[in-house]
Amino acid sequence: MLAAACGVPASRTLDPAPSAPSAQATQLPGPAAPTPAPTATPPPTLAPAAFSVAATIETIDLAKMNDHLVALTSVGSRDPRHPGHARAIAYIKEQLSALAYWGWRIESQRTSYQGIPLENIVATLDPPAGAPATGWVNVSAHYDSTANRTPGWRPAIDPAPGADDNATGTAALLELARVVSPHRAQLRTRLVLAFFDGEELFFKGSAAYVASLPRPLPYKAAINLDMVGFNPLADRLDLLWYTSASAGLRDQVVAANRTYAIGVSPLNAQFAADGSTIMDAAPFGLAGIPSVAICQRYGVNDATFPGNDTFHTVNDTPDKITNPRLWLKAAKLTLAVALELARQG
Ligand SMILES: [Zn+2]
Repeated sequence: MLAAACGVPASRTLDPAPSAPSAQATQLPGPAAPTPAPTATPPPTLAPAAFSVAATIETIDLAKMNDHLVALTSVGSRDPRHPGHARAIAYIKEQLSALAYWGWRIESQRTSYQGIPLENIVATLDPPAGAPATGWVNVSAHYDSTANRTPGWRPAIDPAPGADDNATGTAALLELARVVSPHRAQLRTRLVLAFFDGEELFFKGSAAYVASLPRPLPYKAAINLDMVGFNPLADRLDLLWYTSASAGLRDQVVAANRTYAIGVSPLNAQFAADGSTIMDAAPFGLAGIPSVAICQRYGVNDATFPGNDTFHTVNDTPDKITNPRLWLKAAKLTLAVALELARQG
């Protein structure tokens, strides 16, 4: 339905061949070994005069986001106990590796929760002159899925397609990586795209990541995308913000929606007072990092959100992405703010 609705071509599905299993869970390591240096010569970067945030966000391709979503849901389940999880990891790494010649460093961070191995995938792009020690920008989405609201659901066996939750955010993050790639020369600080695991296990992946960061914390901002494709009524997004330290970032997101005429309406800022908001932005926010989460709705249904009753069930399938226009707007808004922040140094 999405392909028909937004006029994009049919998307490929993942090859059914199993990928290499992920390594055994270990204690959370320090920085993982970087992937091998790319062998290709980086192409010339674009002249700064050719760059604008407004033009760059228009290069986000909804068809490519849809391709990613179809691939990510085709593995069956991204629950870390399910074989599809390793295939999703392989897909994300394959997509990021294709961008490595632009300078991305792609790392895995492994941890575990109650004996369940978890793997965050972290893609880092530094300015050509190198990264400063502070002022970094993080954009994240969780790629794991669950269907724990389906009665009798067995995590290791049964489907958990997680289309809206959160293939939408994961696919957007992959597309942002592609779009940012030619603009490395614009960066004044480190940009990190984090594909978190274990959000459905109480954000264990993002919590482990934040716990592993050096002190003082190097980030000046963290933006999280989680469930941004379902809303047949309105192009609405909720903007959760954490502690008073996040007020400036919140205001910047609201301003960017206007500045770039992105058209999210309504864009509802909500104060998240504690970690009970189960979003990957929470560990950042509670650590004192300015942090926001962008979500189609966090809270009860109302006149501008009818509720996605299929979330966390076996029926969160790609046809539930009822508002691809909203999905694209969420990606644009996120990228606009991330680029503004990363260009400020
Ligand atoms: Zn989610």
